[in-house]
Amino acid sequence: MASVKLNHIYKVYENGTNAVSDFNMEIEDKEFIVFVGPSGCGKSTTLRMIAGLEEITAGDLFIDGKLVNELEPKDRDVAMVFQNYALYPHMTVFNNMAFGLHIAKVPKDEIERRVHEAAKILDIEEYLEKKPREMSGGQRQRVALGRAIVRNPKVFLLDEPLSNLDAKLRATMRTEISKLHNKLQTTFIYVTHDQVEAMTMGTRIVVMKKGYVQQIDSPKNLYMYPANKFVAGFIGTPQMNFFKGKITIEKGKAKISLENQNIYISLDIVEKMDKKYFDEREIVVGIRAEDIHYDSNNDNNDLIINVVPQVVEELGAETLINSNLANSNCQVTFKVKNTVDVETNKTLKVYVDPTKLHFFDVETETTLLPRVPEKRHFLIKYNKAKCKLFNKTIELPLVFKEAMEDGKEYLFTIPTVSVKLGNTFKGVIKRCEKINKKYLLHIACKDDLVFCLNEEALEEGQEVSFDIDFTKVIVNEDEKVVVNEIPDYNHIIGRLHRIKALVPVERKGKTIQKKKTGFQFDIAGTYIDVPYEMYDKTLAVLVKKFELHKIEYSFKTSLVASKEEGIEIELKKAMEYGKELHYGVFTIKQNQEEIVLRLPEDYENADKLYLKLNYEDLKARDTHFDIRLK
Ligand code: ADP
Repeated sequence: MASVKLNHIYKVYENGTNAVSDFNMEIEDKEFIVFVGPSGCGKSTTLRMIAGLEEITAGDLFIDGKLVNELEPKDRDVAMVFQNYALYPHMTVFNNMAFGLHIAKVPKDEIERRVHEAAKILDIEEYLEKKPREMSGGQRQRVALGRAIVRNPKVFLLDEPLSNLDAKLRATMRTEISKLHNKLQTTFIYVTHDQVEAMTMGTRIVVMKKGYVQQIDSPKNLYMYPANKFVAGFIGTPQMNFFKGKITIEKGKAKISLENQNIYISLDIVEKMDKKYFDEREIVVGIRAEDIHYDSNNDNNDLIINVVPQVVEELGAETLINSNLANSNCQVTFKVKNTVDVETNKTLKVYVDPTKLHFFDVETETTLLPRVPEKRHFLIKYNKAKCKLFNKTIELPLVFKEAMEDGKEYLFTIPTVSVKLGNTFKGVIKRCEKINKKYLLHIACKDDLVFCLNEEALEEGQEVSFDIDFTKVIVNEDEKVVVNEIPDYNHIIGRLHRIKALVPVERKGKTIQKKKTGFQFDIAGTYIDVPYEMYDKTLAVLVKKFELHKIEYSFKTSLVASKEEGIEIELKKAMEYGKELHYGVFTIKQNQEEIVLRLPEDYENADKLYLKLNYEDLKARDTHFDIRLK
């Protein structure tokens, strides 16, 4: 029983390959986690780092809350099952399973008990005296599993354990392993390149690409709400159809152009989409084969597309039709029931399920219908220091008033994180959607819609009041930003300053002081002490000449500028968001870098202001390797 936490984990191999970058995840006890992705995406490397078979370049790995980066594999309480079984050919099945326990000097009768128990679970008791070569692939893989089970580990790590088996046996073993997970009630982490395996076994799946995590979610959510085009294409067979598309509003509906054809869908379906995409710019539209239907009785013209079937694949229960969009080379695959006869090379009307459409940005390939929309845009007229927002006339904070002119129109960008239940604005709950452990409230205010993430569910139709955190709002006049948001963090460039430090070291049960190479954070010529535990960890990442690396230091903008001590800064502009909420834009005297900080009370009377940083306030990233150090 164990939880596993990966905290900004990186792996850079000695040849410079960035195999894993910034892997973050909290795995709860008893989860069945699957790492999936194409070959070379870093799945095995991550698993091997958890096992302790591969050194972690940067980041922290916790098993059951304990930092295990430096622990030997045998001390981590994990057991690994490999693709090639890794059995000893000259030993019997019993001895293969017992081997690890012998080494660990477990008493003989205990070994006997544990091996028989595991053999019983796996249904291989009758093979205990056989040698691996006398067994089939599936049986050998069971032995390999048995060898892991007898160790009673906290975490099972399985690296493509089924890929040497034939398709039929793989399907059976998949079920066996899922049953085993139920029986053992332990954390499983399973690596595969096969998305079907991932979907059928995982309670949560991690989709990876080129060393980066793309999405972590349940199988159902990955299928229904892929975060980007890569995940959309990787999960599901046959692969999702992708079209060059455009979207505009026409006759109160959203008109979706798919290559040379149009469909019309309800605006509600795209209510989470950023309105800037409604300007006919190119987007990618994705539709799964199972969401395109053939039904000769359907006469809803709004949803029909014309296709020309090219190849018909009978799969038994259903038939897969590979076709082209009419008058186009764009391929469309869809499924029909086996009772339907489809002729090739003859135009056919099919209709799409409007609620199952996927949309992606052409460049970033991220979804345009995120489960939680990041932001909303509102056009707002400013008049006599007042404006109408969400059907209420309000006075804006001073920082807005200073930047805006009477009679002009401005585009407000209001992020979802800035909306909280409160008392300023009024609306009605149009929908309440459960997303992971929170609820997304769709709040309608006359013609506007705003989203709010809430801890609790609210009834649809219920009236609510809410507030906006104006520090997160951006105001644009045409393309120009007139008020920017207060970012959560400042990022500034500094270095590491080499020192020789006395560090306590354990020697023969005694603690002695040893002189070692260490460093301090160097921010604008001010040195900040670093705990000595960080020395080895960080310097192992940066190797030699670490003073040459530029380090990006980050700290919160909610830190209050000090009136007494720290790095000297100069106030360029004060911003008032409320009577007791003032921020300032500063430049650091020494290097002229710009930062934002909270202003202290009566800051106007202070002679000088300072940036006071403690080690705890800081995050650090090596810009050369793009690795988080802290
Ligand atoms: P996966 O398990 O997803 O197929 P791996 O974790 O095995 O991927 O590999 C991730 C990347 O790291 C690949 O580019 C691979 O070539 C590289 N790699 C793996 N092992 C080593 C190694 N020992 N030395 C250098 N590069 C490696």
